[in-house]
Amino acid sequence: MLLHCRAMNTLVAASDIADLVEKVEAGQRLNPEDGLRLFATRDIAALGYAANLVRERLHGDVTTYIVNRYLHYSNVCWDTCKFCSFYRKPGEPGSFTRSVPEIIDWARRFEGQGVQELHIVGGLHPSLKYDYYLDLLRGLKTVLPGTSLKGFTAVEVDWFARIARKDARTVMRDLHDAGLDSLTGGGAEIFAEHVRKLICPNKIDAARYFEIHGIAHEMGLKTQVTMLYGHIESDADRVDHLLRVRDHQDRTNGFQVFIPLAYHPENNALKARRATGMTDLKVYAVSRLMLDNVPHIKCYWISAGLKLAQVALSHGVDDLDGIVYEHERIFHDAGSATPQQLSEDALRKMITDAGRTPCRRDARYRLLEAVGAAD
Ligand code: SF4
Repeated sequence: MLLHCRAMNTLVAASDIADLVEKVEAGQRLNPEDGLRLFATRDIAALGYAANLVRERLHGDVTTYIVNRYLHYSNVCWDTCKFCSFYRKPGEPGSFTRSVPEIIDWARRFEGQGVQELHIVGGLHPSLKYDYYLDLLRGLKTVLPGTSLKGFTAVEVDWFARIARKDARTVMRDLHDAGLDSLTGGGAEIFAEHVRKLICPNKIDAARYFEIHGIAHEMGLKTQVTMLYGHIESDADRVDHLLRVRDHQDRTNGFQVFIPLAYHPENNALKARRATGMTDLKVYAVSRLMLDNVPHIKCYWISAGLKLAQVALSHGVDDLDGIVYEHERIFHDAGSATPQQLSEDALRKMITDAGRTPCRRDARYRLLEAVGAAD
């Protein structure tokens, strides 16, 4: 280990980001110029070393995951975001909207299975009534009282406010009273306006996104935040995105995890290229380094791929998403070739093979087993 550290110190000293690694070692906050240099470096070893330093400071070897399920209540959406492969217009082949009783029946199969979290995904449905969403939450909470309900993006909450003619705070209160425990991080995409205008011109802006998450944070809910990368954004746009998250987190401390999501090019209008593995690793590492106030960096393996997820565990990532997917659609519709399901044993083996310690967690990132327990 000592030899390894000496060798790494020698390598880092010769790196073009050696001064930034020193800042990280000293626990200093990185500035926007630092972020740009981190994205520009080709020295992935030094970058990974620095990100891993922060990761191990915060979490040691522990890599968490959650036993969860995904619920897609509908894929019908009036919007037409250019990167999206998920949405369908009403009546279009492949479109679906599940009724509340149908969903509750579906959820019953998970009773007693120890499912910690249900992740609820949909679009901006042009005709579903506001009560549909409240009835859905109430019904799910009745059937799965011990399961945390993480649902809807800030974009959906804004849509609910419009259809219900209520303000966002009242909507968040209604949703929470009906059983919602957390918001998903979707809809963040890239916060820079000039990129949003091109890839999702109708979507709420960054200010509204943070306003809605801020309301949730004031209510005591913890939420997550994402970044869709690898399409038309620049390194400066990524750094800007990370700094907006960091600024908000300085005020509310309500984000418990940051999730970089790689753009997938199939079946959507954007037609950009999928980012390379090197870009993926850089994004994870730079996110870990810039977001010094966000506790967790997650790799969504269903999008990144299992092998890259394994390597990401030494480039800043400490959390992997889920073990079993009920026909995941968002990324598979966009061309992801990852498996639809992964057993818990397989996920734990993947983590252990990466030299990390797997640990089940709950929706609030509390560890559910003794760390260090042998597999
Ligand atoms: S990203 Fe969301 S809002 Fe945009 S088209 Fe897809 S489902 Fe609709």
